Amino acid sequence: MLNLKPNLTYDLHAHTLASDGEFSPERLVELAQRAGVDVLALTDHDTVAGVETAIEAALALNEKSEAPITVLPGVEISSRWSGVDIHIVGLNISHKDERLVERLAMQNEKRCARAAVIDRKLSKLGVEGVLAEVQSRVGDKVPGRPDFAKILIERGICKTFDEVFRKYLGQGKAAYAMIEWPTVEESVAWISEAGGSAVLAHPARYKLTRTKLSRLIAAFQAAGGAAIEVATPGLDKGKIDQLANFAEEYRLMASVGSDYHGAATPWVQLGRYPLLPKRCTPIWSLWTTA
Ligand code: AMP
Ligand code: MN
Ligand code: MN
Ligand code: MN
Repeated sequence: MLNLKPNLTYDLHAHTLASDGEFSPERLVELAQRAGVDVLALTDHDTVAGVETAIEAALALNEKSEAPITVLPGVEISSRWSGVDIHIVGLNISHKDERLVERLAMQNEKRCARAAVIDRKLSKLGVEGVLAEVQSRVGDKVPGRPDFAKILIERGICKTFDEVFRKYLGQGKAAYAMIEWPTVEESVAWISEAGGSAVLAHPARYKLTRTKLSRLIAAFQAAGGAAIEVATPGLDKGKIDQLANFAEEYRLMASVGSDYHGAATPWVQLGRYPLLPKRCTPIWSLWTTA
């Protein structure tokens, strides 16, 4: 049972080497503490592999520090809703829950199968041998789209990650391979059954019309979702207000987080995101005593 103090600095969305982040769990915790984060949720894509290491790293760090950091076990589950790839974050989950670990293993089997399809599509476009190169880099880890993107950039086929996703790997693009991800309802259930709270990740990033976004948030709420991310890097005041309004309308709490992946995107910093509007109920009200 969590019992956090009031007025802490939260970052409830961050990645490590266990998925597509740049740093190890130990290093991420150290960087977060140095950035003034009091509570860090580790939310790697479809895996909890880094969580235990991060918790232990925090314990070791806290022995010699006056600013203790708490690591919250989390995950970011790739999901699908109405033909769109959607990310659902699970916070304060039991990361050792056997059913959850099994379900995430299935997600990674799907990722492996997808890697082969992406490779075949790239070959047909005349870009040969990318998967072999990816595998020699990532070793045992299941390759994600960013691993493919790096090779395309190194080969000079594209200049930026954005360009790779726009031309090749983004949804519906030339080398995109669809995965039958779990539905939003299933992902929320997986998180709830592992004792966690489900959060709709970066709602503004799906490029949905206002009407469709509203339908997604309604479906997420009906499925038992707890919160939506309201304050995330790069959102302007208008967008944050819109998300805060949706949270109020659907009686959802609000979450915050950097979605930190590493130093390659210097405009994203651990613990940094716009201010959460006062009218929002932060998700940490579940974990704090007044
Ligand atoms: P995957 O989980 O393997 O499907 O890869 C998705 C990841 O790629 C996301 O979590 C982002 O980190 C990254 N990504 C997605 N779209 C873009 C984009 N347009 N530009 C840069 N990175 C992206
Ligand atoms: Mn990512
Ligand atoms: Mn995401
Ligand atoms: Mn993320």
